[in-house]
Formats: sequence, C-alpha cells, structure tokens
Amino acid sequence: MTGVVVAVDGPAGSGKSSVSRAAASRLGFDFLDTGAAYRALTWLALERGVDIDDRDAVIRLVDELEYATIPTPGDTIVTVGATDVTSAIREPRITAVVSDVARIPEVRVRLTEMFRAMIAASREAGIVVEGRDITTVVAPDAEVRILLTADEDVRIARRSRELTPEHASTATQLRDRDRKDAAVVDFLSAADGVTTLDSTNLDFEQTVTAVLDLVEAAR
Ligand code: C5P
Repeated sequence: MTGVVVAVDGPAGSGKSSVSRAAASRLGFDFLDTGAAYRALTWLALERGVDIDDRDAVIRLVDELEYATIPTPGDTIVTVGATDVTSAIREPRITAVVSDVARIPEVRVRLTEMFRAMIAASREAGIVVEGRDITTVVAPDAEVRILLTADEDVRIARRSRELTPEHASTATQLRDRDRKDAAVVDFLSAADGVTTLDSTNLDFEQTVTAVLDLVEAAR
C-alpha cells in the first residue's frame, strides 16, 4: 500500500459506513468496513453454537474465519468460507452480541492484524477504513484521521429509519451498544491529530463533501 489511508471512527448511527463508502467511491479508493469482520466472526460463533462468553473458543474461531470481501458498485459482498453473509451479519441477533465478541482483547489483536494486511494489499490510490479504533489502533499513522460524530438523538433517528423497528427499541439498543463499545475503545472523543466532523446539522451529501475536503487538504 503506497496510497493515502483515510481512517474514520465513530459511534453507531453516525453515518460513517455510508459516508465512508460514498467518499471512497468518489475518490476511486478502496473501502474497508472493519465492523463487518467483527460481525462475521459473531455470525460464525452463532453458526457453530459457540458460547460467546467462552473467550478461548471465540479466539480459536478467528483461525477458522475465512473472511473475504468482494467490492461491488453499490455494496460489498462479505463471505465466510463459501457462504455469503452480507445480509446475515446485519441481523439484530448479530448486532445484539457483536460488542461482546469485540471486547475480547485477543480477538481485537488478531482482527487488527487482518485489517493491516488488507490495507497493505490495497492497490488503489488510497483506502477509506472505518470502524471504532482505526484512527487510534489500526492505522494511527493514516494521512487523514476523522472522528465522525452526531448528537445521539440524530443518530437514533437515522438508525431508526434504516432498520424500521420500533423507535424506542432502536434507541435502547444503540445506547447499549455504544456504552459497551466505548468501554473497550474510546471513539467518543478525538485523539491527538484527529479531526472531529460533527454531522448533526449536515445532510448526507454535506457530510461526504466535508470528508472529501479533509482528504483534499491532506494531499
Ligand atoms: O460498525 P458496526 O456497527 O458494523 O460494528 C459492529 C461492532 O463491531 C461494533 O458495535 C463494535 O463492537 C465492533 N467494532 C469494533 N472495532 C471496530 C469496528 C467495529 O470493536 N473497528
């Protein structure tokens, strides 16, 4: 990888996935959604009937995670072995327990190694990598480091539109997941050198433009 690395962190519902994907596409960069790998590992654990509280069993599963992503114009296909898990990893049963998988330190170390290898393998002019610990752990030396935030009410409203379950339950789930995730990595305040981009009063286009401006400024 000799191209530009754009690291984007932020809480659930901040829009970082769709904003990062759109920014990558407009820049002609690769896109890496790290949350999808934590979700894929969680999917594999449930598939195998592995108890998420059995840390050693979950850690062993990382060796068996034949994780691959195939970029397509609108989406990224995610596979585990021969199985297409693109929609399955977004199911509420995964979202409900993914934080418990992600808080296992050895799992984080192993997946971080995998993300770094994926970044190194990129042959595009750059790559946009999004998650919770990209600016601080996975790619702290990235040329562009952004913390994408939005007020909690706005994030809940955005997520509720995406998932269309009852608003109240979305709010509870999102708060619960953020609380658990924030106990593992601090993605609610920007580390040194990381630019905070608050999208509370920005629409999607304005947020993508703001990201593109930050990339342009760093080039
Ligand atoms: O981004 P997304 O909501 O799909 O991430 C799913 C989960 O994966 C998060 O709730 C978090 O527990 C975990 N995650 C993480 N570090 C990352 C990306 C995701 O711990 N870099």
